[in-house]
Amino acid sequence: MLNISPIAAFDDNYIWLLRDTDGDVAIVVDPGDENPVLERLQREGLSLGGILLTHKHGDHTGGVADLLRAWPGVPVFGPAGEPIKGLTVAVKEGDLVSVPGVAAEFRVMDVPGHTEGHVAYYGEGVLFCGDTLFASGCGRVFSGTHQQLHDALQRIAQLPPETLIYCAHEYTEANIGFARWVEPENPTIQLRQANARRLRDAGEPTVPSTLELELVTNPFMRTAEPAVIAAATKYAARELADGGEVFTAIREWKDREYD
Ligand SMILES: [Zn+2]
Repeated sequence: MLNISPIAAFDDNYIWLLRDTDGDVAIVVDPGDENPVLERLQREGLSLGGILLTHKHGDHTGGVADLLRAWPGVPVFGPAGEPIKGLTVAVKEGDLVSVPGVAAEFRVMDVPGHTEGHVAYYGEGVLFCGDTLFASGCGRVFSGTHQQLHDALQRIAQLPPETLIYCAHEYTEANIGFARWVEPENPTIQLRQANARRLRDAGEPTVPSTLELELVTNPFMRTAEPAVIAAATKYAARELADGGEVFTAIREWKDREYD
């Protein structure tokens, strides 16, 4: 059985560590820093079997070179559409990824928007989505486009609702605060805020979440909801033609006025 646990890095990054419950081989996802990964592998007597990268940003890739020095020859999977040093297996939509010693297989999804070539890994009922989808939020648009990120979130929305969403940052409480700006009357968002605060007060991660929860509390996935359309239209002060325009309006609203 697959066991997934977080390795905290920097201020608010999660590097995800995957292993079989009874195995001694680990996969890490988006190791921005090698030190907490090496410490964890050593402490638990694990060997590194592979690295999955979702996109090129340094806080997701910065530890690759030193991990390869410690574990030469380990496969490094990452997006074909981005220049990443140390990448050994360039992947794209539909590719299957697995690593000997870990009984799991992941299908690659192209989910551009935060960056131009961002990928996600889906399998075993879980999604590693990097900085595409966050708990109650989504990534900023850097080197992709708003329309791409909107389309990526709508594709993720088609996965089974029970899918566990493993994003790469602990941004949940701040994101929920903005979600309440967009939908102040949504009782599920209010409940989620209380739950997230309780977890953080106890020092626990709020991640993973479920797709089902995102679909009812994440404004960036709810661009077809009348309340979200109304709030986005009010902010933009003009008619919005479709979900892509609603998404763009609330992304700009959050960027300019919330954080
Ligand atoms: Zn990023």
